Amino acid sequence: GSSSVKFTALDMQGNAEMASGVVERIGLDNPQLSYANSRGNHIERQVSVSDVRNAMGIIIECLTNKEYGVVKINQEIEAVGHRVVHGGEKITEPVIVTDMIKSVIAEYGELAPLHNPPNLKGIKACEEIFPHAQQVAVFDTAFHTTIPEHAFLYGLPYSLYTQDRIRRYGFHGISHKYVSRQAAGYIGQPIEKLKIITCHLGNGCSITAVDGGRSVDTSMGFTPLEGLIMGTRCGDIDPAIVFYLMEHKKLDNLQVSELLLKHSGMLGLANIGSNDLRDIINARDKGDPQADIALRAFAYRIKKYIGSYMAAMGGLDMLVFTAGIGENSPLIRSMACKELDGQNALGIMLDDEKNADGNRKLCAIHHDTSRVKVLVVPTNEEYEIANETLHVVQNRDRIRT
Ligand code: ADP
Repeated sequence: GSSSVKFTALDMQGNAEMASGVVERIGLDNPQLSYANSRGNHIERQVSVSDVRNAMGIIIECLTNKEYGVVKINQEIEAVGHRVVHGGEKITEPVIVTDMIKSVIAEYGELAPLHNPPNLKGIKACEEIFPHAQQVAVFDTAFHTTIPEHAFLYGLPYSLYTQDRIRRYGFHGISHKYVSRQAAGYIGQPIEKLKIITCHLGNGCSITAVDGGRSVDTSMGFTPLEGLIMGTRCGDIDPAIVFYLMEHKKLDNLQVSELLLKHSGMLGLANIGSNDLRDIINARDKGDPQADIALRAFAYRIKKYIGSYMAAMGGLDMLVFTAGIGENSPLIRSMACKELDGQNALGIMLDDEKNADGNRKLCAIHHDTSRVKVLVVPTNEEYEIANETLHVVQNRDRIRT
């Protein structure tokens, strides 16, 4: 991110997480390190960091620390997997970082100004700090490059696609890919035969139609602003609202973008001064009508997308909930599936007891009579990045030998 670096060290032979942490508030007041290893050491302290390069220095100090580190020297780290937000149409799978890949990441910085430039800084810092390691870029857009043209085009002049690359790209791809595969594995069926809808509901929210293991549509678009109602982002709106705000409210470009990205969504709708869904649910439970309608709008949008993606795929075998809200909120899961179980409805029926108990673990929460299976699948983007990285490195070694 622009002001934080999240990291996890994994031993891929033992399939085990060794340590993880985050350096936050980089370049701001009171930067902070949080770190924990699998032996139970936990560290929280203020650090002095002004940029991503310094943050990487702190991270490697932590990982090699005699007392609480997990490797002796930085050469023990054999590969570094980087989550890169935007790879556009050009990058369809994880790749070894080369100069050409870095220039593509820089080029797409135009479309993802908050994400790609810091991603590139992170890569360059790791090239210096881990000169022996393979650097691999894993893209959030890559999983969605299988979306067909009729689904990724907007109803705009075609030249805006061909010349300006304005189209649906989709995000959260690492998570949607990971949870769809976990879900297929859980029910023991090949993903190639399944139609799955994955709902990633965190601060950012998106929903994806996965047909035969490939993304065929997703709710985020040209940027991560489109689609579901999110923590502070508006999701789908009539674009004419933007002209109205500029003309009648006299807002300039920046003010409109701040409004739609940072002051809308659940923060704006519930109006309780928090975008944390737990706070909004508490307010509703205490009788706040605005919190109640905000939650209903949030769940209704999810339900509408579920219906439209069933139509897009011509059916559905499995519905998956993941991320902070999807993994933890029986209320939102049940509101999103409400009335989808009737006789002429979509065949999605939750089991109330399983739903109430189905938090933070991979489990099924549908009723025995439900035609569609409904699963909670904890996402693990770090593991997915590490796994993709391992594949890329192993394939490269295989080609070489
Ligand atoms: P990020 O997109 O930042 O990775 P997360 O996936 O961690 O976000 O999700 C954060 C969201 O999850 C917050 O809105 C938080 O309110 C919500 N959340 C976490 N636990 C619960 C819960 N028990 N009930 C409802 N919402 C929850």
